[in-house]
Amino acid sequence: MGKIVRALSADGSVLCSAINSTDIVSRIRQIHDTSATASAAAGRLITAASLMGAMMKNATDRLTVRINGGGAVGTITAVSDDMGNVKCSIDNPHADLPPNDKGKLDVAGIVGTDGYLAVIRDMGLKEPYSGQIPIISGEIAMDITQYYAVSEQIPTVCALGVLVDKDLSIKCAGGYIIQLVPPINESAIDYIEENIKDMQSVTEMLEKGLSPSDIALMGLKGLDGQILDEWEAGYYCGCSRERTERVLAALGKKELLKLAEEQPETELTCHFCDKKYRFTSEELIQIASNCTGGAQ
Ligand SMILES: [Zn+2]
Repeated sequence: MGKIVRALSADGSVLCSAINSTDIVSRIRQIHDTSATASAAAGRLITAASLMGAMMKNATDRLTVRINGGGAVGTITAVSDDMGNVKCSIDNPHADLPPNDKGKLDVAGIVGTDGYLAVIRDMGLKEPYSGQIPIISGEIAMDITQYYAVSEQIPTVCALGVLVDKDLSIKCAGGYIIQLVPPINESAIDYIEENIKDMQSVTEMLEKGLSPSDIALMGLKGLDGQILDEWEAGYYCGCSRERTERVLAALGKKELLKLAEEQPETELTCHFCDKKYRFTSEELIQIASNCTGGAQ
């Protein structure tokens, strides 16, 4: 399980959330068989999604972060619930690139920089809230910062990191988000700027053995930060046979009967957890018989 910690400055004007997402990103590697660079890209996005999801208020709220910059990995989609439990899908998890000129995994290269980052918040209202910005770096953390600045007008610092071992296992992964809570306390900004200058990269801090609590409090140094809450979050996919049947039903009667005729068995694979659901022709015909109206 990953661990999320949230800390608040004494005056309540700055919130810092930090996560150790090593286990979550390891699940990405297992489920999607990602290359080193794809692990880093999807790992950073899911880490951000988990922290952002954990800031939502209601148990039924869902947050989706999607990035596509025209790079070889294609679209990466990460979905979080209000507790930061996350799942992700990746178009081309095997895509890989040589290291960039700094000798690091080339996340910006594999994501691409010609595209968008979108955030969709489903809060059970008629229309989900969505915001979209053009990608500015492709390294993801800076794009998340930009998203908050442009789309939500919330000054934010975001840092994300995934360290992949030689055998492609995930050595460590995590991140933090520091956010100013309105009304903005201008003097807090100076402290935060100093703090982030002093902080090492997320993976360096995790490798040194720092916990998410240590990291969250470092982000609030000088502001008398206190731990607000902490809990475990994991990779979680809520798919089921029942839900898959509803996806099939949405295809409509005609399409289902065509599938039933074409092949004795139809298999659907969940893009988020790779679980396979098989339906015989008889079962498809049964689902088709329950289809009422809608798509033909
Ligand atoms: Zn699933």
